Amino acid sequence: MIIEKIAESKFNDSVFNSTVFGKEFTDHMLIAHYKDGKWDEPKIVPYGPISMTPAAMSFHYGQTIFEGMKAYKNDNEEVFIFRPEKNFERFNLSAARLNMPQIPKEIFIDGLEAIIDLDRQWVPKDYGTSLYIRPVMFATEEAVSARASNEFIFAILLAYAPNYYDKPLSVKIADYYSRSAQGGVGFAKCGGNYAGSFFPTSEAQKDGYDQVIWTDSIEHKYIEEAGTMNVMVRIGNKILTAPTSERILNGVTRDSVLTLAKDSGYEVEVRPVEVQELYDAYKSGELKEVFGCGTAVVITQYDAVGFGEERAQLPTLAEEDSFALQLKKKLKDIQYGLAEDPYGWRI
Ligand code: PMP
Repeated sequence: MIIEKIAESKFNDSVFNSTVFGKEFTDHMLIAHYKDGKWDEPKIVPYGPISMTPAAMSFHYGQTIFEGMKAYKNDNEEVFIFRPEKNFERFNLSAARLNMPQIPKEIFIDGLEAIIDLDRQWVPKDYGTSLYIRPVMFATEEAVSARASNEFIFAILLAYAPNYYDKPLSVKIADYYSRSAQGGVGFAKCGGNYAGSFFPTSEAQKDGYDQVIWTDSIEHKYIEEAGTMNVMVRIGNKILTAPTSERILNGVTRDSVLTLAKDSGYEVEVRPVEVQELYDAYKSGELKEVFGCGTAVVITQYDAVGFGEERAQLPTLAEEDSFALQLKKKLKDIQYGLAEDPYGWRI
């Protein structure tokens, strides 16, 4: 790996005062080029713009994929990343579905460790803050021809992630738009999935909701994801979530929360969850919690769910009564190196 260090670091402590997510980039980025059927040697270089022709195929055909993960620091200045192998595997699943080349472990995992080590002063220490890691691959071949590109760039970018203010959000259950379909690309982390979700989300926002609970694209009968998170519900004392499928992103947080929930003795059921079941549980007072799971916020509580025109208000539970908040604390404590990690998740 070629390393070209920045002449003088841009780092100063005010970076950690930022309240915006993913805008303060670190000193370095990793870049690797794919051409003639192979990856060249990855380079870590000072972070900055790259030059691309407007005819680069990613701009036209959306052949782009990405990942999202975080680096954490404890009081002993140790830096951790969480289950990076899962993101590596998912990145290559996305690549295969989007007809893009596989990225070797020596570039993705070794690159990740090298760049985080180089920019380790950018990893904040305060509980809840972290350094966001964005691996990305995009088509760079110069051609306005609707086919798979033969040239790509893989990059790793790092940006400060402040502590989110954990206020509960509201979600509207999709009854018209869909984010994915059977046989489609819902399980892949590709740019188009996000582009396609912005308009339905802005429509839900006009109705007074923060995010959308995505449902199956055929009947809008089953709940699948929430915003850019996996979704779980608690009915009575049981945690329910949909099985992953071609339409659902296989979230690392979802998987970790399910493991922690089972090992902590909660009752968990992974099976299709009907909108009607949720509504009936709300009406009978059994719908205790609805929450999203994802790297950015770990767990987000929802305090209102829109069923058509009806806004179902849920009580906001404090940690002692909330399964979601208890699981969130358990997971964060492992991520930040404050608790035992019997699973070997922390690297
Ligand atoms: N679903 C979607 C659509 C997402 O974008 C994300 C964020 N990566 C998730 C679920 C949660 O996945 P993870 O826990 O791996 O961040």
